[in-house]
Amino acid sequence: MRAVMYENVLRLDTTVPKPEPTSEQSLLKIRRAGICNTDLELMAGYKEFSGILGHEFVAEVVGGELAGRRVVGEINVTDGTCEMCQRGIPSQCLNRNAIGIDDHPGAFADYLALVSRNLYPVPDDVSDDMAVFVEPLAAALQVTEGVHISPRDRVVLIGAGKLGLLVAQVLKLTGADLSVVARREKPAALLQKWGIRAVTADELARRSAQVVVDCTGNAEGFAQALELVQPRGTIVLKSTYVGTPAANLTRVAVDEIRVVGSRCGPFDAALRLLSHGLIDTESMIDGRYSIDAALAAFDHAAKPGALKVLLEF
Ligand SMILES: [Zn+2]
Repeated sequence: MRAVMYENVLRLDTTVPKPEPTSEQSLLKIRRAGICNTDLELMAGYKEFSGILGHEFVAEVVGGELAGRRVVGEINVTDGTCEMCQRGIPSQCLNRNAIGIDDHPGAFADYLALVSRNLYPVPDDVSDDMAVFVEPLAAALQVTEGVHISPRDRVVLIGAGKLGLLVAQVLKLTGADLSVVARREKPAALLQKWGIRAVTADELARRSAQVVVDCTGNAEGFAQALELVQPRGTIVLKSTYVGTPAANLTRVAVDEIRVVGSRCGPFDAALRLLSHGLIDTESMIDGRYSIDAALAAFDHAAKPGALKVLLEF
């Protein structure tokens, strides 16, 4: 089968053996997949990985109970027995792997074998294009799992890239007074189309937001969030950083600022929001490539300001 492999360099391998599912796994025939910043960060050294990349996908189940159904798949493959799993927090399983990220083959391939308990059937009114966004939308929804946002709050989101634009749409649903720091024209125009205020950092008052969400993906994002958050306010970190951010942690202590990490979120809620037409994903698609042109797709996705690039099978 075809697979996009990363082993120090990125390449398309057309001779990878089709995976043999175990009794716990389903065989998935990938229909469409999306390139995430995490894929690009893995290649930039965010963490050690070699193998088949890819964790945003929609697939058709081959054989078994769900045969023929379209599904999306939770990316954390967990043991179900460790202390975190027992406490009902499988996304923090102590022995987890993550597909295409951590010691598990990814979805940029014709087939993927994945534990069946990770699968969520996709309703008919959610298209393949929309379903590719379920994983990042779930991650965006995790912001509102981790921090209570009142409609009276002033909320600032820094970073309007692929994940940021989904977080912006989720934050809009809270009814809060939302401003999004967007450096580029294209995301700023999209935000305006969605009725969300797009600003530059200079337009915002210092230390005035109750909640600041950092979706910049760069080490300066946290320092910038600290400038904008009010005393006793909350900073939500959605970025995985290449490098270690430098920031004034004295201010965190003295102004009693809460810092909340935020990672993977609820797939069922993400599917429901898409099914109800509450999230615009179509406008976020920047390009489509056949899996055979995966290298060109990655070049496109790595361009500054690129939005979602899809791989078609
Ligand atoms: Zn576990």
